Amino acid sequence: MYHRALLEKTWEIVGKYLSDLPARHVGARDAVEDLRARLRRPLPQDPGDPAGVIDFLARECDGGIVASSGPRYFGFVTGGALPASLALDMIATAWDQNAVLSISSPAAAVAEEVAGEWILELLDLPRESSLGIVTGCQMANFTCLAAARHDVLQRFGWNIEKKGLFGAPQVNVLAGEEAHATIHVALRMLGFGTQHIQTVPADDQGRMIPGDLEKILRKMEGPVIVCAQAGNVNTGAFDPVGEITDVARGGNAWVHVDGAFGLWGALAPSVAPLLKGFEKADSWATDAHKWLNVPYDSGIAIVRHSAAHRASMSLRAPYYIGASGEIRDPSQWVPESSRRARGFPLYACIASLGRAGIASMVERNCRQAKLMAELLSEDPNVQILNDVVLNQVLVRFMPESGDTDLFTGDVTRRVQREGTCWAGGTMWKGKAAMRISVSNWATTEKDIEASAQAIRRVLKEALEA
Ligand SMILES: *Cc1c(COP(=O)(O)O)cnc(C)c1O
Repeated sequence: MYHRALLEKTWEIVGKYLSDLPARHVGARDAVEDLRARLRRPLPQDPGDPAGVIDFLARECDGGIVASSGPRYFGFVTGGALPASLALDMIATAWDQNAVLSISSPAAAVAEEVAGEWILELLDLPRESSLGIVTGCQMANFTCLAAARHDVLQRFGWNIEKKGLFGAPQVNVLAGEEAHATIHVALRMLGFGTQHIQTVPADDQGRMIPGDLEKILRKMEGPVIVCAQAGNVNTGAFDPVGEITDVARGGNAWVHVDGAFGLWGALAPSVAPLLKGFEKADSWATDAHKWLNVPYDSGIAIVRHSAAHRASMSLRAPYYIGASGEIRDPSQWVPESSRRARGFPLYACIASLGRAGIASMVERNCRQAKLMAELLSEDPNVQILNDVVLNQVLVRFMPESGDTDLFTGDVTRRVQREGTCWAGGTMWKGKAAMRISVSNWATTEKDIEASAQAIRRVLKEALEA
């Protein structure tokens, strides 16, 4: 058999990791210096025994592994790995397909195509939209905004792919005050320059104010791109996307929605009203490795106007003999050429959860975030900074005396070291906060209770220190 003994050894390591995962110390136990000391060796000149390589890496990396796919990791916005999705990711690695053209892997191309159709149906987005499966929402934002750039300039008779931005009509780019950093990076990579982005004011929860957008648009001439957001990375708040598209329509603008995790709220009855009208936008970027709990890496770019999408990403070479007619070549919709077969784990995720399973996962995580906020705010030294409308909670720790920002940072680091759970730090409206994001399929109410207890215990220690 092909590497049978090695794969059995691998399976043992994987099986043990996954069964220990729920009880694991959540943060990394080893510092970067320790890991460097163990991993940095002279470049091997001769072949090594593969079994030895596996043992060495599994052993020496273990203390630097973060249990981020476990049920009590609340850092950033981090999904776990659903069992069926994890399995198909591993199988995809074994198949080692190149999902560049349908001819290089017909199965990878079709799995991606069907997963894409399901996603449009799940989110109830226009069925004529095209999709690109990319590495994450950063690249999804980039892909969508490249299509936007093509389309708004074409309306002014300019072919961006041929002529570039030199001498092009000036494109007005607007983004909310609280737009995610990756929007700025995407715009920068598209040649717009961050200084060129006009900021639309946001309210106390970080939502773009449509009235302010309208005032800015009224004074504008030429092509316009508006970047809205569904799910603020700190508060979870939603820009009023429906209103924004109504306002922008008058101005003949392209409206893009960054919905890295928030877009999936459309499936949860308690969240759906906050997304009212989001289907009227022109493009949507989201992640599968966040709230859908597909393993890294998996992002999704959705574009209403498939011709603009295709024109902006199109890839041609004499040896790229792609499909003819109705068959979809995956690489024609993304910035990548050779690429991993991300369609398999994505298909497996949706097939194993179904609409009801995704909806209940999202709804459950939102309920758990509210429970976390309730349990923490029973402590007089805790302040919750946001309206908990989604899966995000901003926590501020109040000292008896001294600097609240420093104290909040200190408690956050103590929570990370303690290991029951892990949450990161942030700044919200000039105030330091600990940021809790509940995004894992396996998180239970017990996990929330145990984590809230641990946080309060650590807070008490910090107050007494
Ligand atoms: C996470 C996130 C992104 C970036 O997504 P990646 O998957 O890290 O590339 C963009 N926008 C928002 C709102 C996010 O939360």
